[in-house]
This record gives sequence, C-alpha cells and structure tokens, in this order.
Amino acid sequence: MDFDLTKDEIAFRDEVRQFLDDNLKQKTDNEFGVSFDADWNKKVREKRWVGFGWPKEVGGGGGTIMEQVILKEEMATRKAPALGTCFMGLAWVGPSIIEYGTEEQKKRFIPDILDGKYQWCTGYSEPNYGSDLASLQCKGVLEGDEYVVNGQKIWTSLAPFAAWMILLVRTDFDTQSKHEGITCLLVDMKTPGIEVRPIENMAGGRFFAEVFFTDVRVPVENRLGKEGQGWAVTVSALANERSSIAEVSALQRRLESLITTARQATRHGKPLLEDPGIRRQIARFEARIEAMRLNGMRYLTKQIKGEPLSSETSVNKLHRANLEVDMAEFAVEFLGNAGLHMRGSDDAVEGGKWIFNSLSWPDVVIGGGTPNIQRNIIAERILGLPKD
Ligand SMILES: Cc1cc2nc3c(=O)[nH]c(=O)nc-3n(C[C@H](O)[C@H](O)[C@H](O)COP(=O)(O)OP(=O)(O)OC[C@H]3O[C@@H](n4cnc5c(N)ncnc54)[C@H](O)[C@@H]3O)c2cc1C
Repeated sequence: MDFDLTKDEIAFRDEVRQFLDDNLKQKTDNEFGVSFDADWNKKVREKRWVGFGWPKEVGGGGGTIMEQVILKEEMATRKAPALGTCFMGLAWVGPSIIEYGTEEQKKRFIPDILDGKYQWCTGYSEPNYGSDLASLQCKGVLEGDEYVVNGQKIWTSLAPFAAWMILLVRTDFDTQSKHEGITCLLVDMKTPGIEVRPIENMAGGRFFAEVFFTDVRVPVENRLGKEGQGWAVTVSALANERSSIAEVSALQRRLESLITTARQATRHGKPLLEDPGIRRQIARFEARIEAMRLNGMRYLTKQIKGEPLSSETSVNKLHRANLEVDMAEFAVEFLGNAGLHMRGSDDAVEGGKWIFNSLSWPDVVIGGGTPNIQRNIIAERILGLPKD
C-alpha cells in the first residue's frame, strides 16, 4: 500500500482546506454531519462535491477514489456539515439509478438528489420478510403501461417526510428461485392508495413508518432496471448502503465527543476523564476505530486497483454498529443518573444525546441488515465457510 499523495492530490487537498477556511461558518451540530444548512449545501454543490464520486455526465464530480477520501477526511477533521442533504438518494438510490436507470430517469432524479430537493425512502422490508428479504410478497401487476401495487412495507425510514420511494415488489410468483420475479419501482409518495402510518421508536423519534399500498398505480417508466431484475438492483444498493454506513470519520468524531463529555462531567470534584477505568475504555474504543480504519484501507487498496467492493462492506457495518452502541451505553453508564435524562429535561446532559443514541441502537444495528446477517455474509462470502 502506498498512500503518499501525488502532486495533484496535494493540490486538491489544499483547495479543500482553503474552501473550508473561507466557507465553514457553522460546524455540524452532531458527529455524523447531519445538517440542513441550505447555504452550505449550495456552495458544496457548486464545487461538485455533492455526489463527488459520481460521473460528471450525470452532474457528479467525477472524483477519483483518493480524491473522495481526501475530501471526506478534510471535511470530517473540520467537523463540516454533510455534503448534500438527500441521505438515501446520495447513499444508494442515486448510485442504483446511475447503474440501472434509463437516461430519462437519470435526468429526472439525479439533479434533484444532488440539490437535496426532497428525501427518498426505501420500501424493502415487510412484516414477515426482513432478513429474508428475497421472499417479499408486496405484489405488482402490470396492467397496460402501469404497475398496480398492493401490499405492505414496514420500518420504512423517513417515509413520513419522503417525496419518493425506491420500492421492491413481486411481479412473478411462479419462479424457481425466490430471488427471481422481484421488480424495483420508483414511486411518488403522493400517488393515491399510499397510506403512511408513522411508528414511534423507544427514544421518542417518529422517523420510520408502516406503508400500505392499495391499488397504487405506478407508470412503467418508473421501473428501475428490467422486470424481474429487482434483486440485482437491491444487491448493488445494499452494498452502497453498507459502505455508506461504515464511516470511520464519523466514529472518530463520536469518540471525540465522548472524550469531551468525560472531561466535562465530574465526580468528587474531578473530571471523569481522570478516572483510569474510563481512560482505559476510551483507549479500547480508539483501538477498535483504528482497526476499522486499517480495514478500510484494505478496501481502499482494492478499489484503487479497480476491483468493486461487495461483501467486505459487511465487516465495517458490523464493527460500526457494535462501536456506536458500546460508546453510547458507556457514556450513559459513566454519567450515572444524569445520563438518563432525555432531551426536553432541564437536567439532560448535552441535550440528552447519549441516552437518545443509546436507545436508538436499532438504527445502526438492525437498519441495513442485522449483525447475524452480516456475520453470515462474512462467513459464507469472505471466509468461504459452508452455507447455513
Ligand atoms: C431503525 C431501522 C430502520 C430501518 N429502515 C428501513 C428502511 O428504510 N427500509 C426497509 O425496507 N427496512 C428498514 N428497516 C428494516 C430492517 O432492514 C429489518 O428490520 C432487518 O432487515 C431485520 O428484519 P426483521 O426485522 O424482519 O427481523 P428478522 O429477519 O425476523 O430477524 C429476527 C432475528 O433473527 C435473526 N435472523 C434472521 N435470519 C437469520 C439467519 N438466516 N441467520 C441468523 N440469524 C438470522 C436476525 O439477525 C434477528 O436477530 C429498518 C429497521 C430499523 C430497526
């Protein structure tokens, strides 16, 4: 591995640093860079740093893998807000449209995703089919030039706010393998027959929902890929989801935030950070993040050689989930009673963010595939162990 930057890459890094010096006024309000600063988004969009790795022909930045790494690292180091606001659009819907979409679909959706005009949601999971996604039953029947959709989805993140959904339906119930007969549709959430029922999670958030479809008519031109090709579209989208979820820089920010909390909180008049037990645990987190970073370097080497990533992204997804949960629980534990106050309470430490993160563990642990499923993928596809 040779990660020395070339002359051009150093010039690019300096350009990013200069941009940050000139434009970064407001640091992100959380470690994961989620922020909806329209002015910032407009400026990074003008630089083509939103969708920076996407081809220039569709409006992306055409950045090389190394340039993407430089951009992300510089942004993370300075705690800059996210590059773009359309979370699912940028992470997996856009890449799927670029890979499988028609020219019309690219023209219609990609600019809006880059501009962050609205949110997308993802209609994959159903009440009985989550890990076993390929067995999904939501039905799509082609009638003339429209698919008529009937069925239900669940745990659909952002559905209460999203304008569009990437949806999987079964268009053929008579196939040899369950992976066949699945079709991917892009659905306008305002279409008659769609009912969104928000679900409140145990941290009090109402970000996901059950979504019901009754005779929902989707034009055939909104099909992504061919009929029956939905599984291939999903596999590529999920690999993108797992790689986008596995961000080491976000974890480094969260660890910094944990250290700040431990420095500010006191016991017997002394900062908790002086406690050897707390320092030891923080050092363990640091070592785990470093292991993840080095693992990420291995994938990076693969990508630089032009090899696509697939199952490897499950390794960091698994690590990140464990780390996030462990860090949040650790903070709640060392803060004691004070750590249990939720946001809204005058006594909440840092707005109750640690207890909120701790109770929101399913977001990162279950969303995008459970730890058991990631372990199955690693065992079968990376370690070559027999199928379960
Ligand atoms: C916060 C959050 C956000 C989500 N967002 C979305 C979204 O936007 N869109 C969407 O479509 N879905 C979303 N989901 C759903 C998520 O993808 C599913 O919950 C997940 O895939 C697990 O499916 P399930 O809930 O049906 O559990 P099940 O599949 O029933 O699993 C139950 C348990 O059995 C284990 N298990 C299942 N099969 C195996 C196996 N073969 N080997 C070993 N263990 C196994 C699982 O690991 C788990 O512990 C979200 C979920 C959460 C919690």
